[in-house]
Amino acid sequence: MIKASNLTHYYNNDKALENISLNIKKGEFVSLIGESGSGKSTLLSILSTLLKPTSGEISFDNLNFKSIKNIDSFRRENIGFIFQFHYLINYLTVKENIALANEKASKNEISSLLELLGIKELINKYPNEISGGQRQRVAIARALINNPKIIFADEPTGNLDSKNSLNVFEILKNFSSKGTTIVVATHDKNLAAMADIIYEVKDGKLQ
Ligand code: ADP
Repeated sequence: MIKASNLTHYYNNDKALENISLNIKKGEFVSLIGESGSGKSTLLSILSTLLKPTSGEISFDNLNFKSIKNIDSFRRENIGFIFQFHYLINYLTVKENIALANEKASKNEISSLLELLGIKELINKYPNEISGGQRQRVAIARALINNPKIIFADEPTGNLDSKNSLNVFEILKNFSSKGTTIVVATHDKNLAAMADIIYEVKDGKLQ
C-alpha cells in the first residue's frame, strides 16, 4: 500500500533521516519506535504526505506522491491523522468536532462510531467536560469518520496514563484487523509491541 524508497531528509544542513526504505501492506499495524529526536515524527510526516523528503520516493497503491495533483483532497479521501495533542475545538461539541472532518457524516454515523469507541454518551458534550482519555478517543473518531484507508498517529498516547494508552492501542489494533492500515510513532516499547511490525529508528536510520 505504501512503498518508500531511499528517503533522506535534511532540516537545513542537519540530516534527520538517512536512506530509509520500507513497505507497508494493507491492514498492517506498524509501529515506529525510537528515542526522542531519532526521527520518528519526520518519517511519519513524510509517509503521511505532510512533509516532502529531501530525496527519495514514496508511492501509495502504486501512485507516486509526486504525481498527486490535489494533495488536500487526496489526504481527505485516504488518510486519518491522530496527534499527541488532540486539537479538538473547545467551543464545539464532540459531534460537531467530528463533523468538521466530514460534513457529510450523519448523526447516526457519528453516533455508531462513538459507540464502537465506547463513548457514545459523550456526543453532545464539550471537550472540556470529558477526560483526557475520552478526548483522545474523540480524536480517533474524528480521524476515522472518513473511513480512511490508512491512519497515521504520532505519539497518540503521549498525554495519557497507561490504562488509557492501552485502550487507544487496542482500538487501533481492532481497526487494523478490519483492514485499516495503521502507522503509529511511539517511544513506548510495550505499546509498540502490540503492532504486527515494529521499525526502530535510531539517529535517522532504520535499525
Ligand atoms: P522524534 O519524533 O523521534 O522525536 P523528530 O523526527 O522530531 O524525532 O526529529 C529528528 C531530528 O530532526 C531531531 O534532531 C530534531 O531536532 C530535528 N528536527 C525535527 N523537526 C525539525 C524542524 N522542523 N526543524 C529543524 N530540525 C528539526
